[in-house]
Amino acid sequence: MHKYWFFKGVSLKSLAPYWVLLGALCLTAITALELHYKESRDVEFAFQEKVRELKQTLQVRMKAQEQILLGAAGLFAASKSVERDEFEKYIAQLKLAEGFHGHLGVGYSAWVKPAELPAAIEAVRAEGYPQFTIRPALPLRTAYTMIVYIEPFAGRNLAAFGYDMYTETVRRTAMNYAVEKNTASLSARVTLLQENDGPVQAGMLMYLPIYKKNYPLNTSDERWEALQGFVYSPFRMNDFMDGIFHTNNSFLSFKVFSGVIRSRDKLLYSSSEQADFSRAEYRNQDKIELYGQIWSLEVINTPLLIAERKTHLVKIVLIVGVILSLLLFLLLKMFSGQRERALTLAEAMTLDINKKNRELKHSEERFQLALESSAMGVWSLQLSDNHVQWDASMRALFGLEDSSELTNYESFLALVHDEDRQRVFEEIAHAIEGQKGYDTEYRIVWADHSIHYLASRAKIIYENAAAVSMIGTCWDVTERKRLDRVKTEFVSTVSHELRTPLTAITGALGLAVGGALCELPEKAKSILDIAYKNAQRLKLLINDLLDMDKLLEGKLEFHCEPQTLMPLIERAVAENKSYADQFNVRFVVVPSNIAPQVDIEDIRFLQILANFLSNGAKFSKPDTDVVITLTQDNGFARVSVIDTGVGLAEESKAHIFEKFYQADSSDTRKKGGTGLGLAITKEIVERMGGRVGFVSTLGEGSTFYAEFPVVA
Ligand code: ADP
Repeated sequence: MHKYWFFKGVSLKSLAPYWVLLGALCLTAITALELHYKESRDVEFAFQEKVRELKQTLQVRMKAQEQILLGAAGLFAASKSVERDEFEKYIAQLKLAEGFHGHLGVGYSAWVKPAELPAAIEAVRAEGYPQFTIRPALPLRTAYTMIVYIEPFAGRNLAAFGYDMYTETVRRTAMNYAVEKNTASLSARVTLLQENDGPVQAGMLMYLPIYKKNYPLNTSDERWEALQGFVYSPFRMNDFMDGIFHTNNSFLSFKVFSGVIRSRDKLLYSSSEQADFSRAEYRNQDKIELYGQIWSLEVINTPLLIAERKTHLVKIVLIVGVILSLLLFLLLKMFSGQRERALTLAEAMTLDINKKNRELKHSEERFQLALESSAMGVWSLQLSDNHVQWDASMRALFGLEDSSELTNYESFLALVHDEDRQRVFEEIAHAIEGQKGYDTEYRIVWADHSIHYLASRAKIIYENAAAVSMIGTCWDVTERKRLDRVKTEFVSTVSHELRTPLTAITGALGLAVGGALCELPEKAKSILDIAYKNAQRLKLLINDLLDMDKLLEGKLEFHCEPQTLMPLIERAVAENKSYADQFNVRFVVVPSNIAPQVDIEDIRFLQILANFLSNGAKFSKPDTDVVITLTQDNGFARVSVIDTGVGLAEESKAHIFEKFYQADSSDTRKKGGTGLGLAITKEIVERMGGRVGFVSTLGEGSTFYAEFPVVA
């Protein structure tokens, strides 16, 4: 169950980068959309502003046209009668061709009653236009208009000369409107008479009525009565509009229709033939009223307006947003990857730890089994509070009930034999101080007063270089001790029993070999000689055995007193010289200028040196020196016996002080010896408060030494 949730958690979390990516992309899309809408609103606003400007421009330009006509009307008002050349000059002054594209000029059409028509025609003819007549002449009508002046009087405009515009419906409507409303008026779409050359454009006319002077003009009837004629302007729409907008219509395409219906035949102007009015982003359909005419406008934007107004901000936001989202995603993916790897690692480590725990448990079980089968106890001592922990085997070794409590060091010491307690206490203290390893034997006394021998070894556990506890094993050696004792007693008894007869035998043989009894034949002498040497060797062995026995039994007594060592060294060398001679070896004492005093018994010290010297001679090559030195170091005086003989193999070194141990028994036997010398030496040195030791390299030689605390 736990594991299930663990993995579920991991898989959900591993999706996190994808969620973040989705979120970041959505955010980017929303921001980009917002920006897009804002930009679109801005563009639309700009478009509507342009449309407003367009309408305003149209109105202003038409107003300017009206001003031109009003100026012409002013000329008529100011002058008694406006002659042709006056009119021409006035219009020429306006320089219409320069500022008013599409504006074909300004004309004057006289309002003529039928009775006055012939005279009016005649008057124009008299001005030098004999062909002049009114067009159309027929049908006869109640009133005529007749274009008398048209400036500039040239080109297309000549086609209009004499034309009666009132005969044509569209023009008549505009003229009527001008008089009825007493205003300037615009015509609907017409085809101008001037369209006599090139492609035909839609046309338009603006009229302003001229009244005879001093006539009342308040009502339309009065105005019709007072009407003298019309000043007017014809426009070619394309030229006119292009003239107005050629500079500033690049953002818009538009069509102007005459009237409210947007049909092809009503089209006054289209700014662009190519523009597709059905596909524009922005569109405006509006009307404007101009001098009695309604114009319908259809306006769309050009791509330039969009290009001009739209920034690249949306694109930038999109690109940057997508890049950042991806980066974020990659980062998270990397981190979550690391996290997953860490989890995998942790899982692997957990598995590993579990495996190791299992192995440890198995090993513990095996160890426990080994302990149980060897009847070995395990104990530990916590140094901070002297707390002792024993396993069941320890209790059995100490003859304690399983349930009995033994928790501290003092209760352990109390179980140790009175004679061994202090020593055990000191050995443990030395081990804790790091002076010596803990490897000992001691006696304990059970509740039934029986004495048991235990051997124990321990290790110190350190934390941060400080000893914190001690852990050790313990096993029973009572039986081994008993067997040792039996053996020792046997050897001791045998040795004692042998010594007396052997002394007699050696004495007798000595006498015989020395020739004290009689002159012996050579053969008998050599046999007795062999017998004598072997009897002596046997005596040596028995003496050693008895010494050993006495030492172990504690029967050997030491009478120590402060001694200077050098004289004793020289005495020992002298006493053993003959032995060295047998091996053709020299003893060389290195002179010393120190004279430390040590607390020893001289006879025992000579015994120690005799052993070192005899070994030195025995294991040296012939014709070599055995060097004896006396040194002092660290409060100890040390006597060393240095040879350049056979040396010791590594595997022998640990056993050299054991009883009856001989490194190479065949070789040693050749040279004689019991294997007890060093064991006795060690025992004697230690009983006198000293230490023995050696340094040896196989084939190169050995140095054996004994050292004693200096007392003065
Ligand atoms: P042994 O009577 O056999 O000399 P020891 O106890 O004196 O008995 O010596 C034990 C053994 O130690 C010897 O048999 C020998 O193998 C080795 N030994 C002692 N001293 C030396 C030495 N100076 N050089 C090499 N081996 C030595």
